[in-house]
Amino acid sequence: MAETSPRLRPARVTTGGAILLAWSAGMIALGRLDAPPIVGVLAAIGLTVPLISFWEWMVHGVLYHRRLPGLDVIREIHTAGHHGALFPPKHYVQPSAGFPFMRFRSPRRPWRMADNAVDNFLTSGSQVALHFVVGLPFITLPVYLLTGPSPFFWSSLGTLAVISWLLAYVHGCIHTPRDRAIERMGWFLWLDRHHYIHHIDQRANINFLLPLCDVLFGTLKRQLSESEARRFPSFEQAKPMAYDVLHPTRRAARRA
Ligand SMILES: [Zn+2]
Ligand SMILES: [Zn+2]
Repeated sequence: MAETSPRLRPARVTTGGAILLAWSAGMIALGRLDAPPIVGVLAAIGLTVPLISFWEWMVHGVLYHRRLPGLDVIREIHTAGHHGALFPPKHYVQPSAGFPFMRFRSPRRPWRMADNAVDNFLTSGSQVALHFVVGLPFITLPVYLLTGPSPFFWSSLGTLAVISWLLAYVHGCIHTPRDRAIERMGWFLWLDRHHYIHHIDQRANINFLLPLCDVLFGTLKRQLSESEARRFPSFEQAKPMAYDVLHPTRRAARRA
């Protein structure tokens, strides 16, 4: 049956938060055991990935999509620029864009993709930096206070750095397809479809890279509602390259 837009329910969010807290406590306890370093390294990944999912959910769901005093320019860039002007559902990809990120420097309007490496770097770099900087006080600092300069700490910091970069990189690839190897991977195609639903229903699929908190907090949406399916292109129509990957014979025909 087609799904409706997810609504945040306090009981679901509380339960999800409690699960996340309990899991985090377990991973930290594991990391503080007098065990071989590999245990600490793996436990830190087990801690850091879900916590990044939480902060990704907060940054995108609150900072990018809600009106916050003094920070409204971020919401405007994301909702009016990214969602509204550059990548509405009927124009979900820009295959011919020279750079994978938008320009956000003034003058911002008309909204447009970066047409030089500096603007592209400013946008991609600020997205990476934002997630990294949010992670430092809320993940890295507590980990350091609890475990010191341990393999657990370094593993957590490295995980934060890699995922902060991946978050921006994968999002750029999704909207500017150009037959990169990553675009033919199953997990990428899954995330692409997941993100397309967010571009139609902005209350759904708040996580971009790590959908764990969409599951925990009840914002996961796996398919469009019947009315959305009537009003908007299907994912395969919106994303011809993904359609090609899923249907190789059609890809060959298109290229003939
Ligand atoms: Zn997007
Ligand atoms: Zn969004």
